[in-house]
Amino acid sequence: MRQVAADLKSRGDLGFVPTMGALHAGHMALVELAVRENAGVAASIFVNPTQFGDPEDFDKYPNTLDADLTMLEQAGVEAVFLPDVSVIYPPGDETIVETTKLANMLHGEVRPGHFRGVTTVVTRLFNIVQPHRAYFGKKDYQQLAVIRRMVSDLHIPVEIRGVETVRDADGLALSSRNVRLTPEQRRAAAVLNAALTDAEEAIRGGADLDAARRVIRERIGAAPLARLQAIDIVDAATFEPVEGRPNGMVGIMVSALFGDVLLIDQREVTP
Ligand code: AMP
Repeated sequence: MRQVAADLKSRGDLGFVPTMGALHAGHMALVELAVRENAGVAASIFVNPTQFGDPEDFDKYPNTLDADLTMLEQAGVEAVFLPDVSVIYPPGDETIVETTKLANMLHGEVRPGHFRGVTTVVTRLFNIVQPHRAYFGKKDYQQLAVIRRMVSDLHIPVEIRGVETVRDADGLALSSRNVRLTPEQRRAAAVLNAALTDAEEAIRGGADLDAARRVIRERIGAAPLARLQAIDIVDAATFEPVEGRPNGMVGIMVSALFGDVLLIDQREVTP
């Protein structure tokens, strides 16, 4: 893979899109931006065991490899890295990468070890592919912050590009997990984006963040199939939690369970 990447880099900048497969239009937005910004693009499909807390979640992860490869090829991706677990985590492996604070707050607090798994695999993938730019979705808002922190702290020479969330017509953020929803849960899941819109309107109308939290709780509480898990509001630049009336851009993250499927969504709001 490193040789393939080096060949691509001989033509100019190389963009890299790491994924876990089961690709949808959200992933393809990352790919499309990468194709526009670079001379060549590589992607990876690797369901990373170290970022799953629940082995069952890992086992149930969807696999649509043939369709994925067709989509990537049609979009102009020239190399797809499909490593075995034993390549990324060789026998005797013991090195981890962790953002010690960011990885263990908010979503990281409810999913211990998750972000450590992400930073560890992304570091290994970056060291193999050595791209100029790498593309991540804002849907996984804390993940993007964790990766930016890691790349900055470790002086990793890769430019990180964040890409807006791609949504279905009713506003639900596309996710590989959406296929696990029943038709009723799928209809109900649009409430996440609707709640974020309510919060955005409240903040723009002068409300403080307590009031914004309240409108999210009310909207999600009114959806019988949704069980709200968390509402986190952070300073978009520093990722520090904010309260009161924000004076700069904030990131609002919500998560809710629909049956046993945990969905997350996010919105950046400028007051
Ligand atoms: P995953 O395969 O779930 O690890 O996702 C691979 C990349 O695609 C991550 O950077 C995600 O943030 C991004 N991604 C997933 N869903 C979306 C979406 N709906 N819109 C934009 N990016 C997304």
